[in-house]
Amino acid sequence: MAERRAVLSVDLDEWYHCRWATGSTRSRWKDTATFFREHYAAEAPPGELREPTRRVLALFDRLGLRGTFFVLGEVARFYPDLVKEIAARGHEVGCHGFHHVDIDVLGPEAFGRELREAKAALEALVGGPVTGYRAPNLLVRDFMIPILREAGFRYDASVCTSRSLLGKDFGHEHVAVNPYRFRERFSRPDPAGDLVEIPHPTFPWLRLPAATGILTRVAGRRWSLIALRHALRTGDAQYYFHPYEVGPMPPLALSLRERLFLRRLGPWMERAVEHIAREMQSWGVRFVTAGELAAELLAGRART
Ligand SMILES: [Zn+2]
Repeated sequence: MAERRAVLSVDLDEWYHCRWATGSTRSRWKDTATFFREHYAAEAPPGELREPTRRVLALFDRLGLRGTFFVLGEVARFYPDLVKEIAARGHEVGCHGFHHVDIDVLGPEAFGRELREAKAALEALVGGPVTGYRAPNLLVRDFMIPILREAGFRYDASVCTSRSLLGKDFGHEHVAVNPYRFRERFSRPDPAGDLVEIPHPTFPWLRLPAATGILTRVAGRRWSLIALRHALRTGDAQYYFHPYEVGPMPPLALSLRERLFLRRLGPWMERAVEHIAREMQSWGVRFVTAGELAAELLAGRART
């Protein structure tokens, strides 16, 4: 295999930001404020994101790599110390919007406002520019592109090349699974484009989600490794997961479907991410941050 780059990225949000819980028209709770009041009888979470995030940071140290953490503005507000710690340990901080809400619920005006608000909050914490964006629930629309550009973003890492699944239409089924430059449409690579897309590889042939923690837990680590190996045949790749996935099971009654989405949380998942990353390293993959990969692609550095 020619030398490839890969990004290990993390969405710094919580299990209750999942689409079935909050942030979409199908959610169990109206929003996180409602969830906090009902579940914690408080206006803010009690701090349960710290421990699993520190497990992820320790894992990255063991693997000897730097990752990219896409942080929700809401999370930065509750955990400013954690965001500072991530940056201080050499990882990249990207922006995951302010509230974890589907773009079709949010609309262009609120999207732009929340994006700028989250970016400013993150930059104040890390003391430098935040140039990467990941959409909540990986849902992007082309109207977001000029807003992202105007706000100073250089790359997006949201496009999932999956076919629609469980009522979620990603809208990019026929896009390449490897990072590319673009200008006007997320789904239209443009070698001279001023923005970079770092997409999420899907399982080959079937075009189903694969290189994410959720699918690793649901379908097994081999499912993710096959997709990553396949993507790396043609270019660079990324894998992403969440700190809550290496943490404990949430303490509430769950439906069968909710239990499926939350199966194998904790040590199983921590071992799975370590295994996947070490396999990729054994293939000769060079881990870089998403920002480094985007900068290299924008500098026109040829793939080897
Ligand atoms: Zn998220």
